[in-house]
Amino acid sequence: MAAAQPLSYSSVRTYLECPLRWKFLYIDKIPEAPRGYFSFGRTIHSVLEEMLRPLVEPSARTTAVGVSQRTLDEWRGGLGAPPPGRLWSPEEMLETYRKLWVPDGYLSPEDESRYKRLGEEMLLGFHATLGVHPPRPVAIEAHLEARWDGIPVHGYIDRIDRTTNGGLEVLDYKTSRELSREDAVESDQLALYQVLVEKNFSDPVERLTLYHLRSLTPLRTPARPKAALDSLHERVGIVSDGIRSAAYEPTPGRQCGRCEFRGRCPEFREVPENERRKMSELVDRFRELRAREGELERELKATAEALHNEAERLGVHRVPGSQGVALRRRQETWTFPAEVVGPLLEAHGLPPASVGVDSASLRRLIRDPKIDGELRRRVAEAGGRRLQWYWELEDA
Ligand code: SF4
Repeated sequence: MAAAQPLSYSSVRTYLECPLRWKFLYIDKIPEAPRGYFSFGRTIHSVLEEMLRPLVEPSARTTAVGVSQRTLDEWRGGLGAPPPGRLWSPEEMLETYRKLWVPDGYLSPEDESRYKRLGEEMLLGFHATLGVHPPRPVAIEAHLEARWDGIPVHGYIDRIDRTTNGGLEVLDYKTSRELSREDAVESDQLALYQVLVEKNFSDPVERLTLYHLRSLTPLRTPARPKAALDSLHERVGIVSDGIRSAAYEPTPGRQCGRCEFRGRCPEFREVPENERRKMSELVDRFRELRAREGELERELKATAEALHNEAERLGVHRVPGSQGVALRRRQETWTFPAEVVGPLLEAHGLPPASVGVDSASLRRLIRDPKIDGELRRRVAEAGGRRLQWYWELEDA
């Protein structure tokens, strides 16, 4: 069943953008056409994974029953010796890059070559940074799962590093053109990864980082405070509830421009040729009735008012017509201003919350002989009565 599927960041984002698109992707499993920039991202991620995996020191404590999340102050380990694994040479890295290249979805051979060169530059630049700032990965491409207050979530985390303070840094590589610190600060993806790491490791998450590979810039932010995680949990909860109740309505918006499912989407599908005439007639009839709707409403109101005035003048509530009888009915509504009634009740030792300040409760109070007469009189005076007359029709 769909509700049992653990939710990933992209699944949550897709559902919030458009539940129908989510259904096409995650339930119907309709594949999307490959795109060059996705293939490019996959290739780069794979090379970094292969290259950094030998450097992993699995020194972070994973959670187990009875082990609670520790704080940064509790770290006593220090960073110790450099990682045991050997860093590849640039040539080895580029050889793997060529082997792992995913050729799908590029617009043309020129487009693919341009991306290939960009990837080489990116990887060589990244490799050079490793000598200056050797990473301390405790996990690479970690697939983590957790139940977040009852909601199953999961994610593949590019890298988790040990920080000099003994905490953990959660990193996500980005190959996109532009990326700002704001993106890192607002990233729900990083926030969800923080939750996953906190639930799977007992060492504290200290930093969340989007690593912009084109500029070789780590955009670092502190771990999210509880309020930010609560706000994300609320949105994940909306998605989980929506999926559980099979709510898959399309929500058209800017995202439709890049949606491959427009041909299947009721917002964009065309009426079949052989149905057009019948549907067009229905639409025309609907327009016609809609136009008369307002006119009829006005006429109905004016007639009811004329009938009311004449019945009032004659002092009658039953007015026979040729096919039935019109019955004049009365509806009474009372309103009591809370700012007047509240203090009155308080002054008589009746807390408004216990009595109730809705009009039904107050009208009961006015009629209750056990309540002080003075209070009942003053509450009644504070109230305003509104009478509305309406007509019912009875067949002859
Ligand atoms: S075309 Fe727009 S509304 Fe329709 S499924 Fe795609 S994103 Fe949703």
